[in-house]
Amino acid sequence: MAIDFKQLQRKLKGNLFTDNTIRTLYATDASAYREMPLAVAIPKDEDDILALIQFAAENGTSVIPRTAGTSLAGQVVGNGIIVDVSKHFTKILELNKEEHWVRVQPGVIRDELNMFLKPHGLFFGPETSTANRAMIGGMVGNNSCGSNSVVYRSTREHLLEVNAVLSDGSKVVFGALNIEDFHAKCELETLEGSIYKKIRSLLSNYDNQEEIRKEFPKKSVERRNTGYAVDMLLETAPFNAGSRISRFYLC
Ligand SMILES: Cc1cc2nc3c(=O)[nH]c(=O)nc-3n(C[C@H](O)[C@H](O)[C@H](O)COP(=O)(O)OP(=O)(O)OC[C@H]3O[C@@H](n4cnc5c(N)ncnc54)[C@H](O)[C@@H]3O)c2cc1C
Repeated sequence: MAIDFKQLQRKLKGNLFTDNTIRTLYATDASAYREMPLAVAIPKDEDDILALIQFAAENGTSVIPRTAGTSLAGQVVGNGIIVDVSKHFTKILELNKEEHWVRVQPGVIRDELNMFLKPHGLFFGPETSTANRAMIGGMVGNNSCGSNSVVYRSTREHLLEVNAVLSDGSKVVFGALNIEDFHAKCELETLEGSIYKKIRSLLSNYDNQEEIRKEFPKKSVERRNTGYAVDMLLETAPFNAGSRISRFYLC
């Protein structure tokens, strides 16, 4: 059955494109991969994002979030609906000078963030080669870092919290948890709860732990982005009895 994009356009404040020209422009990123998306959306606000996620779920397709599109492995290429947040989600929302943190929307360019932070004597360390266009949403998605990563580490080491919308439209905050909060999350009868539960069940399994420790690149390789960093999750308190309660990163 054909997807009724006119119905979606009526729900959005932002733009929706289904013509060949725009879809062709978004059919690739900085990689060699190419696939025509069904449509391209430029959401204007959070309600638009919720409408897009709901529409994709109802129509059996996917959303592909995109910021600058400089990924090298086809991360923002696919046959779903491209959701380009680089146009309307570009605000630096809050700076806490005392605690050294900043809250931003995903479409803030890394170098522009540092221009903003400079007068305050602060900067965001991870520096990709594409820092003059790469955006924080994409840096979080890719766990980006650059030539000084041994000093500045990668994006996940600087990430305190992520406000996210899950595939069922629920809004969640991912951030540091102590062990009690982690187990409480696992009890939630929601999609968020089932994510935590799944992680707990997979990583509590001794055979899985052994396999991950054996097969993941060794820890001395700082830059080792090979899928989800489950090797790092194994180092956190729920799976590593007696260790300190670490920050709990999901990427
Ligand atoms: C010449 C060149 C050199 C590069 N050098 C480096 C380097 O030194 N280090 C490095 O790490 N990378 C490098 N890259 C890869 C890339 O530029 C970086 O990883 C960059 O940080 C990606 O940012 P972006 O805004 O382009 O993200 P995109 O490519 O748009 O997206 C990246 C990922 O994040 C996801 N994403 C984006 N926004 C959101 C959102 N709002 N919600 C959920 N998911 C989201 C996307 O779906 C995708 O999976 C290089 C690329 C090129 C072309």
